[in-house]
Amino acid sequence: MFEPHTLPHVVSEPHVIVRGEGVRVWDSEGRSYIDAMSSMLCANLGYSESRLIEAAAQQMARLPFYASFGHRTADVPLALADDLAEIAPIPMGRTFFANSGAEANDSAFKIAWYYHACLGRTGRTKIISHENAYHGTTVAAGSATGIEPIHRGFGLPLPSFLKVPCPDPRTSEGLDDEQFTDYLIARLELLIEAEGADTIAAFIGEPILGAGGIIVPPPGYYGRVQDVLARHDILFIADEVITGFGRTGSMFATTEFGLSPDMITLAKGLSSAYLPISAVMVSDRVVEAIANGSNAVGAFGHGFTYSGHPVAAAVARETLAVLTERNIPQHVRDLAPVLAEGLGEYWNVKGVTDVRGHGFLRAVTFDPVAFGMEEGEIGATLAARAADNGVLVRAVGDSIGFAPPLISTRAELSEMLDRFAAAYRSVPVR
Ligand code: PMP
Repeated sequence: MFEPHTLPHVVSEPHVIVRGEGVRVWDSEGRSYIDAMSSMLCANLGYSESRLIEAAAQQMARLPFYASFGHRTADVPLALADDLAEIAPIPMGRTFFANSGAEANDSAFKIAWYYHACLGRTGRTKIISHENAYHGTTVAAGSATGIEPIHRGFGLPLPSFLKVPCPDPRTSEGLDDEQFTDYLIARLELLIEAEGADTIAAFIGEPILGAGGIIVPPPGYYGRVQDVLARHDILFIADEVITGFGRTGSMFATTEFGLSPDMITLAKGLSSAYLPISAVMVSDRVVEAIANGSNAVGAFGHGFTYSGHPVAAAVARETLAVLTERNIPQHVRDLAPVLAEGLGEYWNVKGVTDVRGHGFLRAVTFDPVAFGMEEGEIGATLAARAADNGVLVRAVGDSIGFAPPLISTRAELSEMLDRFAAAYRSVPVR
């Protein structure tokens, strides 16, 4: 039996994780936790996938590093680009590799700027994103992020980063999905009109907004966004850093939502987080324009020493092999109802205002007033109590997020839900 304990959340000491196995991790005090968040929604194959460990060790021994620069590269990133092209949900020209989600998004913005420059549209510099979006914390990705603490104290966002309202059905103020989508699309069109389409390079959006609170836009929303963008020659970048590689029950949420972005950014699940690697999938259309126009503009002066790091790329290749051979997206589709039904129970208890999500990406929002607490307090309290009960969840304000490793079994999902239910029961509702 698991012994409840008190975590050091209340003091400033970090909670130190020292070991992992399957969907579980252990801390420095020897306590074990079932990880309902896959750490930062990324350890998708859990913490002990021997094939990934073996792939890293073999590549370390064969060629620990060679940079991709100029006309020289290692073989592994090329093979990974081929693997990705094979499963890409868009007509895929090229893949650009980086090391983090933010770098992938910065790179996608620069590819968008460069693409327009290649077409002679040098005035197209602005980037549109959502309020509450999360795209990373570098200067550019941080500017596209729509979460205030990422801007505060840094002079962000940069002026060329524009925002449209978050497609959060909880803010629809009584409108049905279609009316709410009409409103959101009208706001996007107004912004484009006010700024001038010829000043806008790209729109970036998460198919399901993650760090902003696990927000599933109304059905058909992104399809309509895409129609507007296409009319104005604005590129559409799908940020699949969280949703890519099975989390929604498909290899890519892009496919599930019937989208055809010009670029897709990927990180986290690409290597199941075992090593840092990210990617921008760039569609044929963009690659062709660049190939035809780059002589006039000059070389694409962008890249990182570790772009396509061979060891990270080897782990990513093996991750893709495991995802495909074990048909992990299907596993997620099969077991998503366990989470949906388990969390759906919270509609019937006191102090809950919303239950939402898709695949293995879900959230429950609690009402602090019902618990006699201030805003933000019930989320933090439940996350701490959950840890006390042996399950790690993430609080975003008063929402609790669930994004378990994609390998979780039915029994492990039930255990996560039971442990969280015990945490909920431990906090008195008024
Ligand atoms: N995009 C999305 C949708 C993310 O969730 C994140 C990270 N949470 C990022 C980009 C940034 O990734 P990284 O932290 O690797 O820079």
